[in-house]
Amino acid sequence: MRWFREHVDPTLFEQYFVLFDESGVTRRPCDLFLDFSYRLTGLSAIFQDEAATKKKYLLSSEYHRLHIAGSEAFCVGIGVMDRLPVVPVNVENNPDYGRTLYQSGSFTDYGTKQDYSIPKLQEYLARNDVEVSRALWQTLCQVKPEVLQARYRPNARAEFRSAPSQLVHHLRKAAWIPDRDGIFHKQAGISRDRLREDFPWENANCWLTAIEFGKAAMHIEAEAKAREAQRESAATTLGIPVELADELGTLSPDELRQLVLKVKSHRHRQFPVRRPSNPERRITQVAGAANDAPDIEYGKPRRRVRTTNRETKIAARQYLIDLYTNDDDELVCQICEEVMPFKLRNGAYYFETVEFLDLEREHRENYLALCPTCSAKFNYADATTDEELLESTLRVENDTVSVSLAHEEGTIRFVETHLIDLRAVLGVTAEV
Ligand SMILES: [Zn+2]
Repeated sequence: MRWFREHVDPTLFEQYFVLFDESGVTRRPCDLFLDFSYRLTGLSAIFQDEAATKKKYLLSSEYHRLHIAGSEAFCVGIGVMDRLPVVPVNVENNPDYGRTLYQSGSFTDYGTKQDYSIPKLQEYLARNDVEVSRALWQTLCQVKPEVLQARYRPNARAEFRSAPSQLVHHLRKAAWIPDRDGIFHKQAGISRDRLREDFPWENANCWLTAIEFGKAAMHIEAEAKAREAQRESAATTLGIPVELADELGTLSPDELRQLVLKVKSHRHRQFPVRRPSNPERRITQVAGAANDAPDIEYGKPRRRVRTTNRETKIAARQYLIDLYTNDDDELVCQICEEVMPFKLRNGAYYFETVEFLDLEREHRENYLALCPTCSAKFNYADATTDEELLESTLRVENDTVSVSLAHEEGTIRFVETHLIDLRAVLGVTAEV
């Protein structure tokens, strides 16, 4: 073998029947290809359908089995195929010929017409067979860089013009690259991480660059990144968290408009304003009334039914309606600050008159106007102690008292008159 390699021109053997095929028939090297035991070339899949007249035969695995050193390289050296051949083709068939390559000028001996492809390439590309695609892939990983380009110049005075070769054009056009799920993609539509493991990323000759592998996939990725950046900047501009911007993004323009209208109308809805014209006189009056207020009394000890609050509650009702009805004639809840959810048959808003602090006497000022939901939360899910409520009622400056309701921080909002009254009452009755 070594003697052969060193002394003999391998082309000498090309036309002689010197090698066995897999069925033991001697063949010319140019009629044979290797696969399987030597190296997975995928050529078996390609040639199994070849017309009988041009049939290629699988090289006998004996040479490999006998461990003849260098047998594979020798066989390839004398013309056995280990990859698909790339051959010169007519540049005038290149799609870029008229547009890019051609230039006028008389064609001389110094002119260049260069273009390349693989015989039957389009047929192989259309097979959608992983083995066939792998044979192509392996061939392409090994092609010389120059076959990726078509070049043309009519004579020595002209400049070379170049464009992608027909090989590249065909490879760009077909969906021939299988992904890990066996789906075939065009070169642009698949990304490197979706490639099968037996399709190695080998780009030393820049063929993957030439066919623009992953271009669309990269474009999609870049678009996704751009969208992400846009999303973040939109959120920043609006001054809201990205997640909220995403949620808004899922709404249709119509839904967004409705949302805006709803928020606007809610904002527009005013919490009522009540301010006594003469606060001092009011305080004196309320304090005086508070002094005369009845003590809270219960009925028979075992039943503990409060008997004195009925009248106070009735008085509180009207008092609260007067204080918490806004300019649009809507009665507003002191906690959620929403309009009471429904009206009674008589046209009046339904609301609950809820006792605020635990005091010694009955005072209409010690009641809140709440919607049913807030009333339930205040009665059953209020984690604020009476002392805390009392203290913040006395200290409060912005008309709201903080409460912890159903595990959420909330506020009870008062109109100024109510707060003044309530403090006057507390000045009289509470142990401050
Ligand atoms: Zn409410």
